[in-house]
Amino acid sequence: MNAAKSIGEECIAMLGNLIAYDTTSVKSNLQLIEHVQNYLNDLGIESHLTFNKENNKANLWATIGPPDKGGIVLSGHTDVVPVADQNWTSDPFSIVQRGDRLFGRGTSDMKGFVACVLAHAADMKRRDLKIPLHFAFSYDEEVGCTGVLGLIDDIIDNRPLPIAVIVGEPTSMQIIGGNKGGRTLRTEVHGVDGHSSRPELGANAIMAAARIIGFIENLQNRLRDKADPDNGFVPPYTTIDLGMISGGAANNVIPALCEFSWGFRMIPTDDVEALEAEVLQFIDREITPSLKAISPNASVITKRGIDIPALLPDENSPAEFLLRHLTGLNRSGRVSYGTEAGHFQKAGMPGVIFGPGSIKQAHLPDEYIEVDQMHQCSEFLTKLTDWAENEGM
Ligand SMILES: [Zn+2]
Repeated sequence: MNAAKSIGEECIAMLGNLIAYDTTSVKSNLQLIEHVQNYLNDLGIESHLTFNKENNKANLWATIGPPDKGGIVLSGHTDVVPVADQNWTSDPFSIVQRGDRLFGRGTSDMKGFVACVLAHAADMKRRDLKIPLHFAFSYDEEVGCTGVLGLIDDIIDNRPLPIAVIVGEPTSMQIIGGNKGGRTLRTEVHGVDGHSSRPELGANAIMAAARIIGFIENLQNRLRDKADPDNGFVPPYTTIDLGMISGGAANNVIPALCEFSWGFRMIPTDDVEALEAEVLQFIDREITPSLKAISPNASVITKRGIDIPALLPDENSPAEFLLRHLTGLNRSGRVSYGTEAGHFQKAGMPGVIFGPGSIKQAHLPDEYIEVDQMHQCSEFLTKLTDWAENEGM
């Protein structure tokens, strides 16, 4: 027999177990959840699931320590992005170590953090925690941070409000106190078709869409020009996505339909409702009346897709305070991608983003995490457990 594994090695072994479940967002995560539930059960830790409507995906919540107190939430998503059309050197769902890197889908984003948390469960359970530590593992993060909403509702309805949330997205173990939010939108312009030799008899949906897009571009320029260059975000203003457009059938036919997908990645101090309303008001004022003048059936319809609130930096929040205290780091950064932290903050739970691995590896083929990052995360969790046992807040 070898000597007992160090807790850092247990984190890595656990990561291998989790990577083996293909939890691409489009698939069920229940096999992984069941594995985690059985594992926790064997340690005497109860867990509670909240399901999606179809009952094929679940969030897992577990508490170690006094259940009647707030506590610290360790939050991670269990789903991963697809590997389709990516060129992997080895099987993405079988962990492989090459040098000091561990390869597999989700190693950085973000089963690495979840694995570390689970590998520390036995130690946490053994201690006499004064402040509870909660596990919050979600589904459907990668498709718009929607799964965690059921888990948050369950906290609000049934549990003491947690003191702070650590969202373990890959930040290379640096504290991230703010992230941009995201809102996706899709606009359909319904015009009136006709022969292109008589444009005055039709309503050209592509030209109408182009005017809306021109307005959106001007809005983007205004947001850029009023940016506070020191707010820590890159770039330091709300950006507008415009990623897809389609419309028209032939060059000699007036197009009756043009659709485009757009949206905002907003800094926390911008009001996305107001920004969206500005565009919709322009459409109502300038575009719809000219289409309707040709036909009452013409219209412009805008639908919302994904909605992820931004995380507003709060350097005095208990979450930042705790992380600075435990890590000795004295500054926190900002990121431009959405996370679940904004949903927690909106529900009254201050959060920070802090986890092993680098976002640079996320979503790419041959995603990896450095072995050292796993050990650093493990050391951090030991410090957190010590704190929860000895000091509290
Ligand atoms: Zn992630």
